[in-house]
Amino acid sequence: MAYELDHPEIRESVVRLCANFPGEYWRKADREQAYPTEFVKALTDAGFLGALIPEEYGGSGLPISAAAAILEEVHRSGGNAGACHAQMYTMGTVLRHGSEEQKQKYLPGIAEGSLRLQAFGVTEPTSGTDTTALRTTAKLEDGHYVVNGQKIWTSRAEHSDLMLLLCRTTPRDQVAKKTDGLSVLLVDMREALGDTLNIRPIRTMMNHSTTEVFFDNMKVPAENLIGEEGKGFRYILSGMNAERILISAECIGDAKWFIEKSSAYAQERNVFGRPIGQNQGIQFPIAKAYAEMRAAELMLREAIRLYEAGGNPGEEANMAKMLGADASWAAAEACVQTHGGFGFAEEYDIERKFRECRLYQVAPISTNLVLSYIAEHVLGMPRSY
Ligand SMILES: Cc1cc2nc3c(=O)[nH]c(=O)nc-3n(C[C@H](O)[C@H](O)[C@H](O)COP(=O)(O)OP(=O)(O)OC[C@H]3O[C@@H](n4cnc5c(N)ncnc54)[C@H](O)[C@@H]3O)c2cc1C
Repeated sequence: MAYELDHPEIRESVVRLCANFPGEYWRKADREQAYPTEFVKALTDAGFLGALIPEEYGGSGLPISAAAAILEEVHRSGGNAGACHAQMYTMGTVLRHGSEEQKQKYLPGIAEGSLRLQAFGVTEPTSGTDTTALRTTAKLEDGHYVVNGQKIWTSRAEHSDLMLLLCRTTPRDQVAKKTDGLSVLLVDMREALGDTLNIRPIRTMMNHSTTEVFFDNMKVPAENLIGEEGKGFRYILSGMNAERILISAECIGDAKWFIEKSSAYAQERNVFGRPIGQNQGIQFPIAKAYAEMRAAELMLREAIRLYEAGGNPGEEANMAKMLGADASWAAAEACVQTHGGFGFAEEYDIERKFRECRLYQVAPISTNLVLSYIAEHVLGMPRSY
């Protein structure tokens, strides 16, 4: 895989950092479902997690292509950025819609690592993909929003100080459009934890530190409202394109890891007196996964190009995410098959990466919903739900 990539110096230093966190590190964390604290600290200390924070607030002020390069290289190195990537994709909402006071108050701490913004509370148990049906409410009383309700799949909540929370501030039957009346709050969880805010971890098929979060009259100062009350759905949607771009980059990193592993093993493993990679039955799935990965990567670059030009490329970001997730899944499947029985052995890391990359068919948006988006918003077909 020798073709020119953007941000070569950043990529090189991420690869160097990741070399200190080999397969054994990730296997141990996976086995214990432990948060990779040392890895996240190293990434923060090196300034990578503050990549998107403007220089005036202590970050590096880099464009989203740099963040995508960082996350891709983490995954390509065999690691997983799921423990900390939210800091990058929630940043767009804070940067684009937060007030100057909010930015001054929170961004320098996030950039230096003393404050963590890793939790993003959107999904709820009863609403699922139908975000506007969410039931968590926030009522303004004496300078505070009083929050009641529940979120599910709030990843990293136990390892974050702040949460970007989407909740309903005007009941659904009192707004013209169901997307109105939703608001985004920047919640400082430290003040409410164990009292009006409770977190329960969910064990999953891969190590993802995901949780359920319960709010019971949790008070959030009114000044922590992001942007205008009732317009939160729009803010979250604009942030979601950044999220899709960054997840696509992770998928492409995974696909590259699987493809490199498979093609190397196919050349060195001898069965019937010749390398298994001499058989087209072994070659073709790997070659196909490579072609799919390159196509996904081109779509990702197009999404990034439009995003960096100031656009909000819903079509390209969604397609990049879907094609990236499909490419990594095809590469994962080819990698397991190429390795035969060894593909199932923990020490090869393949089964771990296989479990990890399965997530991206479902989250942060499922393949079906991407296809619905394309059918309805790009091709003009009727809404199916
Ligand atoms: C490990 C993990 C981490 C996560 N982290 C976060 C997080 O940090 N913050 C957060 O807010 N959320 C998070 N999520 C939630 C994730 O975004 C949702 O799981 C995802 O959006 C799907 O929602 P759901 O699970 O409620 O599925 P549902 O909405 O119940 O859907 C179930 C299935 O039905 C399909 N489906 C639903 N409606 C339609 C339709 N109209 N047409 C066709 N198919 C349809 C879906 O595609 C899906 O395959 C996480 C999830 C997981 C598993």
